[in-house]
Parts: sequence; C-alpha cells; structure tokens
Amino acid sequence: MAVDSAISSPLGPPACEKDAKALQFIEEMTRNADAVQERVLAEILCRNAQTEYLKRFELKGATDRETFKSRIPIITYEDLQPAIQRIANGDRSPILSAHPISEFLTSSGTSAGERKLMPTIQEELNRRQLLYSLLMPVMNLYVPGLDKGKGLYFLFVKSETRTPGGLLARPVLTSYYKSEHFKTRPYDPHNVYTSPNEAILCADSFQSMYSQMLCGLRERKQVLRLGAVFASGLLRAIRFLQLNWTQLANDIRAGTLNQRITDPAIKDCMAQILKPDPELADFVTEECSKDNWEGIISRIWPNTKYLDVIVTGAMAQYIPTLDYYSGGLPLACTMYASSECYFGLNLNPMCKPSEVSYTIMPNMAYFEFLPHEPNSAGLVPDSTRKLVDLADVEVGKDYELVITTYAGLYRYRVGDILRVTGFHNSAPQFHFVRRKNVLLSIDSDKTDEAELQKAIENATQLLREFNTSVVEYTSYADTKTIPGHYVIYWELLVKDPENSPSEDALNRCCLAMEESLNSVYRQGRVADNSIGPLEIRVVKNGTFEELMDYAISRGASINQYKVPRCVNFTPIMELLDSRVVSAHFSPALPHWTPERRR
Ligand code: AMP
Repeated sequence: MAVDSAISSPLGPPACEKDAKALQFIEEMTRNADAVQERVLAEILCRNAQTEYLKRFELKGATDRETFKSRIPIITYEDLQPAIQRIANGDRSPILSAHPISEFLTSSGTSAGERKLMPTIQEELNRRQLLYSLLMPVMNLYVPGLDKGKGLYFLFVKSETRTPGGLLARPVLTSYYKSEHFKTRPYDPHNVYTSPNEAILCADSFQSMYSQMLCGLRERKQVLRLGAVFASGLLRAIRFLQLNWTQLANDIRAGTLNQRITDPAIKDCMAQILKPDPELADFVTEECSKDNWEGIISRIWPNTKYLDVIVTGAMAQYIPTLDYYSGGLPLACTMYASSECYFGLNLNPMCKPSEVSYTIMPNMAYFEFLPHEPNSAGLVPDSTRKLVDLADVEVGKDYELVITTYAGLYRYRVGDILRVTGFHNSAPQFHFVRRKNVLLSIDSDKTDEAELQKAIENATQLLREFNTSVVEYTSYADTKTIPGHYVIYWELLVKDPENSPSEDALNRCCLAMEESLNSVYRQGRVADNSIGPLEIRVVKNGTFEELMDYAISRGASINQYKVPRCVNFTPIMELLDSRVVSAHFSPALPHWTPERRR
C-alpha cells in the first residue's frame, strides 16, 4: 500500500518510506543535474590533483570545467594502456587515482583480443550499490505487490585472475556479487531472490545454473518476476531447462541433489531446503515434456508480472524469442551500466523496449557528450567537435559518451552512441543507439570488422593447399538457436575443381576463425556455453554480385557500393540462404583460459 501523500514523489506515490527516500534522491539529483556535475568534477579533480596523470596536464589545482576541458585530452583505452600496464605490474604510486586501485574490472570490450582492464577503487562499490538501490523503488511505482513474492534471477560469477602485480581482474558483476555489499545486503521484502547466495557465488556455471533453476522451480508460484542481466542469459536458462528438466524433476521428486553438484556451500544450503515434492515433479515433467514450449515461462511461473532483462542495444535481437517463451510478458530494462562506471536507470521500466530511455544519474561520474554525426563520420575530426555537458545536450541528437570517473578515467570515450529523447527535470534521458564498431554479438562478445577480417584471413590459410580463396564474405549473428552462433557466408574461388576443399578442411576453417576471435568470444564458447559453434555457409558463385544488384535496385550507388560485412535484413538473408551449397560447423572448442595472453 502506498505511504501517505506527505512523502509522495513527482514520480508517483512511493510504496514505502524507504522508496520515498530513493525517489527523493532521484528528484534531487535530476533537478540539479548541472550543479551536481560541477561538484562531481571538482571532487574528482581535487582529490586526484597529485596523480601523475593530472599533473602532466598542469591543471595547477584548478577544478573548474573550463580549465579541465582546455587542458585534458579526450582519450581511448589505447592511450591509457601504458599506465594501466604499470598498475597491473604492481606500481602502487598514484598514477591515475589518489585512492588505491582495489582491483581491475575486465570489460567485455577488448583491446588487442583481450578484455580491457578498467581500474576501480573500493568506494565505487558504494556508488554501484546506490544505483541498484534506486531500481526497486522505481519499479514499485509501476508494479504493485512485488513484496508479496520473489524474483527468480539467474546471476553468475565468472572466473577471476590476478595481474602480475597481484591485483584481481574480474568482471564488474563478479566483483559486486562477491562483495559484502551484495552478500550481506539488508532484507528488503520487495527484493527477495529465489537463488541463494551460495548458488550465485559458485563459479562453475553448471552447478550454479542447476541450483538456481531448482530453487526457482521449487518456488514457482512465489515467483513474481524473472530475470538475468542480459536477454541472452535468460534464454540460456530456458535452454538449460530444456536440456536438464529430467534430472531437475527427479531431484524435486526425491528431495535430492544431482551428483554433479559438488560445491560444498551449495550442498549445505540446499540440504536445508530440499524436500520431496512429487506433485511438483509431475507438473514439471508434464510441462517440459510437451513438444511446444511456447509460453513455457508463464506456464511454469504463472504469477510472473514481467521479465527483468536488458533488451536494448545488441540484445534487441532476442525480443521475439523471449516473447515466444514468455507468451508476451512485459520486458523491463532497468539500468544502463558498464565496467568503467554505472551510468543510470530507466524511470519508466514498464515501457516498450523500443521506447526505453535511461536517465544518467549525475552523481555517478562527470559526463560529457561528443556530438555524433553518422553521415559526416571521418569528415569532421573529433578534435573540432565540441563536447557538450550533461545538462546541455539537445533532444533528438546523437552523442558519444565520454566520462571522467572517481577511479581515474579522465575524458574517456566509452564507445556508446546515445540519442537524447527528453528530460526528467534537468537530467537528459537517452535511448541507447549502439556501441561503436560492433559487427557481431551473441552474448557479451563484441566482434568488430577488423577482428572478423583477421579471422577470415587466418582461416583461409587452410584453403591454400586446395588452391582456393575466399572472394567475398559477410556474416550474421544467428540467434534463432540457443545459444546463438556466428554464421559466415563465403563465396569461394576454387581454381582446381578436382581439388576443391574437403569437408574436413572447411570445418577446420570454422575452428581457425574461432581461434582468432577475441577472448570474450572464446570464453563464451568454452566457459559460459553462451555461444554455439561458428558456422561457415558456402554460397554459389555469383551470389555476392546478386547481393550488389539487389542493393542497387534499392537505391545504393554503384560507385560507392561495399559488401556489408554483417547482414540482418530478411530479404538479403533469404537471398544468401537460398544460394547455400554447403554448411560447416566448428568441430571443437577454441582455446581459452582465464589467463590473459598478453
Ligand atoms: P562491460 O564493459 O562489459 O560492462 O559492458 C558495458 C557495455 O554494455 C556498455 O558500454 C554498453 O555498450 C552495454 N550496455 C550496458 N547496459 C546496457 C543497456 N541497458 N542497454 C544496451 N547496452 C548496454
């Protein structure tokens, strides 16, 4: 029930006193966006004034925006790499941040094939927790009664390594779930999970998923919302259920735990929970043995009000599949965040995915926006495009996000393109347009054009003995299968038809491509099982010429036509698929270990 109007919020009546405080905080931050930004920049520059990086640009104690903008360059990860390498090797002097770097967060964005290492400091955990604490108060405005049940969230930790200097390197969510902030979070009736911490914190993905699914099935009627961080993760859970429901049903029937669960913490905690439930086992068996899984989520978890998953950006490709399995449940995208910094939240989380806008919270970092003009890309140098402050962006325009963080990134280009859709008070709201330079993505992997090109070059070495070359290629992220997989279309020039490439050689080409792709891709294949084997589809000679004819018939200029290196337009896919002469899959897993190659 809503609390009395004395603490009502412009966002709507809060569900409880705690929510009122959170909504009040959002109001304060967004009303004073510009002043908060000014204060945040001054704080960052003041505390880090003696760092090697800032001293190099001679701010001489200035903390104002004008001096900052005139002295500090806009940079990318590659510019920071030498400093980051020194920190990774054990240099504890204040290079980027006055506060000690507590660990590195390994981004899904890569540099030279390896995850980028983002420095972070201990207090950033508080900022992340603060942003998380705002999500349910906003959701409670739109979906009442979430305190009457639980959330089934599939959350995972991933492997971590240490840098040569001894700092931990791990993904931001692994860092967060393993922190005391998460593990000892206070009880909040609106935010109770079916998954025990022990299951979330197990690094073995099978054991973690199995026990989270088992708990979710046991409490199926209590589940009011179902989620994962990204849409691909939730679909992976559904696939897991398809593959493992028999064992899950057996365990439910007997009150036992699958032998493959060996993690002592999970075993202990599940021993307290598990009890035989033959009725539930019959239900699971009946539902899961049906051939048709349409609407399975709503059948198994009938009280689910919405799916909590990110379906913006690259994840939009999963919306039709989620709709299929859920029978069209609402999809809520609640937040926008990265390893570098948590940015903001969606103040209208039950809106349609195509209408999602994120409100950047001005207390999280100092934000600048580089105007992005796609049509003049390359013609207008970055240096002549003036960066705009958070409160000064214009509705309808596209910008690239540039951040200055407490942890020591200064005017750092995140690589995300955002479009301003409106304002909440004086804080702008952004539609996530895309990440720059991403051609293919299934899960958190991001493959750019240069990486794909290199992978093709490496694979084609194997065709030499057949005197065969690849004349044209394009690619496609096939998400109709779970997990999704990369499809590469090849048109070959076979110079000696008597010696055309063998089936085995083309299969090995698939694997050779996978070996060349970046470590996030290979981790998805090997450790997370979130990406399926890469497929090469060989198409008939002349197919790419037909593709060009098609593009020209639709208005492309013949002089400027370039083969698209990634396709997703249905008529083009249909054309390509109708010309396929053979399809080949990677016969093995590529190499991957948590250790970095460099
Ligand atoms: P990572 O550095 O691996 O944590 O990835 C962060 C990136 O994921 C961001 O810079 C975005 O490109 C993407 N991302 C994060 N949240 C969202 C979202 N809500 N919608 C679309 N893309 C997102």
